[in-house]
Amino acid sequence: MVDTVGIIGAGQMGNGIAHVSALAGLNVVLQDMSMDLAEKGLTVIKGNLERQVGKGKITPEDMAGALGRITLGDSLAAHGNCDLVIEAAVENEQIKTSIFKDLCPHLKADALVASNTSSISITRLAASTDRADKFMGVHFMNPVPIMKLVELIPGIATADDTFEKFAAFTEKLGKTTAVSEDFPAFIVNRILMPMINEGIYTLYEGVGSVEAIDNAMMLGANHPMGPLTLADFIGLDTCLSIMQVLYDGLADSKYRPCPLLVKYVEAGWLGRKSGRGFYDYGGDIPVPTR
Ligand code: NAD
Repeated sequence: MVDTVGIIGAGQMGNGIAHVSALAGLNVVLQDMSMDLAEKGLTVIKGNLERQVGKGKITPEDMAGALGRITLGDSLAAHGNCDLVIEAAVENEQIKTSIFKDLCPHLKADALVASNTSSISITRLAASTDRADKFMGVHFMNPVPIMKLVELIPGIATADDTFEKFAAFTEKLGKTTAVSEDFPAFIVNRILMPMINEGIYTLYEGVGSVEAIDNAMMLGANHPMGPLTLADFIGLDTCLSIMQVLYDGLADSKYRPCPLLVKYVEAGWLGRKSGRGFYDYGGDIPVPTR
């Protein structure tokens, strides 16, 4: 039975997964490369829990209970007592595989391991662990406390009972699951990311302004958020990494990352998390940059 969950990476996804796990009554170890980064994640969780209390979705007691179940860590050794560990570090295969190699010696023999990767091969990531049968992809959506879906992605070596345990875990969190085969970017991002990339091409080619493109898709296709707003929300580094995985993994030129996306990432304009992307987030309301 899963009682204690470890989360590697306290960024927007890691702190969200920690939030919903602690709220569901599980003990959580939230770990990043430094205590400062882990504490930053905890501060975001507090703010988001307060917002939920303000809206009457949870009680102040729920919030206090959830916060009391979260402990912080700054090294992979912090996951030694975890029943299940979810990696939510940056979308970079080399970083993820080196994390798994360093993590495994610290784990209990029967601990389950997952990656929250948006696109990278689960079978390849599993091969960097000492427990491919206990490993799978568990892909939460952003923002985790609000979005209902979790994609479950078994790799070629994932055991059936590992799949069942992760399915039970996500059910405990109140999420709905979609099962995807282990192909580049799985289901959601296989469909979503080429659309976002096309939105960026539309801007790059001067077909429309940032505002025109976002309004066109919101009011013309009934999307709750325009593609450029969504790209900023996801993080432009993550968008670029996913397009590169699609491009390399499926070897089809239709997945070529837009050069403007590449330039923005090179400039450090990563979207909301860095204060600037297709919009500038320095003021009270986001201002289009093009
Ligand atoms: P983020 O940049 O907000 O956070 C990444 C965190 O990982 C940072 O706090 C960083 O310090 C930490 N980190 C980096 N290297 C580490 C290491 N060696 N050990 C421990 N921590 C480390 O990124 P994010 O948006 O939270 O994305 C995390 C993962 O979730 C990626 O794989 C991404 O593809 C996936 N994902 C992102 C979204 C999204 O919308 N942003 C949605 C679903 C899945």
